Amino acid sequence: MASGTFDYLIIGNSAGGVGCIEGIRRQDKKGRIAVVSDEPHHVYSRPLITHLLDGHLSGNSMDFRPRDFYRKTRVDFFPGFRAASLDADGREVHAVPVAGGPGKVLRFKKLLIATGARPFMPLMEGLGLEGITPMITLDQSLRVREDLGQVRKAVVLGAGLIGTKTAQALAGRLEEVTLVELGDRILAPVTDPVSSGMAMEAFRKGNVEIILNNTVTAAGGDSRGRIAEVTLKDGTSIPCQLLVLAAGVRPKAELAAGAGVRIADVKTGGGIDVNTRMETNRKGIYACGDCAHAWDFVTGGMRLLPLWPNAYIGGRVAGLNMTGSEYRHTWVTNMNSVDFFGLPMVSAGFVLKPEEPGFEEIVREDEGAYAKVILKDDIIRGLIMAGNVQRAGLYLGLMRSEVRTTPFRDQLLRDEFSAADLGPEGREEIMRPIMEMES
Ligand SMILES: Cc1cc2nc3c(=O)[nH]c(=O)nc-3n(C[C@H](O)[C@H](O)[C@H](O)COP(=O)(O)OP(=O)(O)OC[C@H]3O[C@@H](n4cnc5c(N)ncnc54)[C@H](O)[C@@H]3O)c2cc1C
Repeated sequence: MASGTFDYLIIGNSAGGVGCIEGIRRQDKKGRIAVVSDEPHHVYSRPLITHLLDGHLSGNSMDFRPRDFYRKTRVDFFPGFRAASLDADGREVHAVPVAGGPGKVLRFKKLLIATGARPFMPLMEGLGLEGITPMITLDQSLRVREDLGQVRKAVVLGAGLIGTKTAQALAGRLEEVTLVELGDRILAPVTDPVSSGMAMEAFRKGNVEIILNNTVTAAGGDSRGRIAEVTLKDGTSIPCQLLVLAAGVRPKAELAAGAGVRIADVKTGGGIDVNTRMETNRKGIYACGDCAHAWDFVTGGMRLLPLWPNAYIGGRVAGLNMTGSEYRHTWVTNMNSVDFFGLPMVSAGFVLKPEEPGFEEIVREDEGAYAKVILKDDIIRGLIMAGNVQRAGLYLGLMRSEVRTTPFRDQLLRDEFSAADLGPEGREEIMRPIMEMES
């Protein structure tokens, strides 16, 4: 079995892994870095994979970094290798090739676990049929794209970010797309009832049927073993040749758990427990991204935040700390910016006003546009904008810097409101660079 010894070992080649490499190289130009990844690909932008389906993107245009990234950052990259076990005391990882063959022992001084998340698989009959797939990897998207010739009608289960993006991409290609959601609105984590209603209208205009308060309980197949229909909880049957499962993701934390790394209570998400330096309870072992918890500066607690910027910055902060610097990952929250069928939407922090005392909201509704800020003690703790997102950056800056809006609070959602209303101190606050805020 081949082996190697590295100053830094990273498991997972995505946002978290790249952030870590760039954090390390900012401080340590020479240390040996290795990345092990069970996917065979160069690093790609996972949030873009559904654009392979609508034809807006192809192959290399999804690269998150140029093809010479590993060479330029002097990283030993092991694509197609799965980290099968971790010995936290012995400081080594056993990696096995996904395609079979001899494995490797990778020894490390510092380790980052950035293993991401796996799709939640709902309990339903007929799961093994052809044409049923999650949508979280490049390969899954490529397989669906190859298969589209045999598909006229598709059902997407789950109306979070992954499900809605998939439904939008398929709508331009197929005769019928149905989005089935267990809750009473789509995009629930990033919308309130008004903005969700606007999104639903956009989807319906875009030829996507939406069914709420329902779920898929069974899939039936044809004589070739391919999906031919789904049955919903209320007994409705929908013919389809493709079912995309997008009912949420769960942190991939078992490698860490098996090595005695502390895992957070399943009630709070079950991700890898880290501090704000992104270090676990095992010294020198760090975690970030979808597999780990992160400090949400709005809710004031550690939680799962399965979002691309959280993974990248968490990895970068981990990398900086792995070199001996002192950085903290403390400004992230639930932040999203999306566009569905020409309806731009931005949200951050609380999307519903908490019931606790002290919270208030300011709302503005215009023809085709909606804006809401949630304040506590005049500090912005939540934001939703739909239809017109022009000043979103300004509100996010105020929110992140926790600027008290008292002097200009009543102007916040007015058309004339601009950075000029903040005064010199407020402007300086929101211009502070992100990395400075992490230190
Ligand atoms: C379709 C889609 C749309 C999305 N849209 C958005 C969006 O609009 N905005 C947003 O902020 N976020 C979005 N996300 C979420 C975002 O992609 C994730 O939050 C982000 O990719 C997390 O990065 P990560 O580095 O933690 O892990 P991941 O990107 O999940 O990467 C982890 C990598 O580790 C590998 N791995 C796992 N276990 C092992 C092992 N044992 N050995 C070796 N390798 C292993 C995995 O195969 C994977 O390649 C979207 C995700 C999807 C799927």
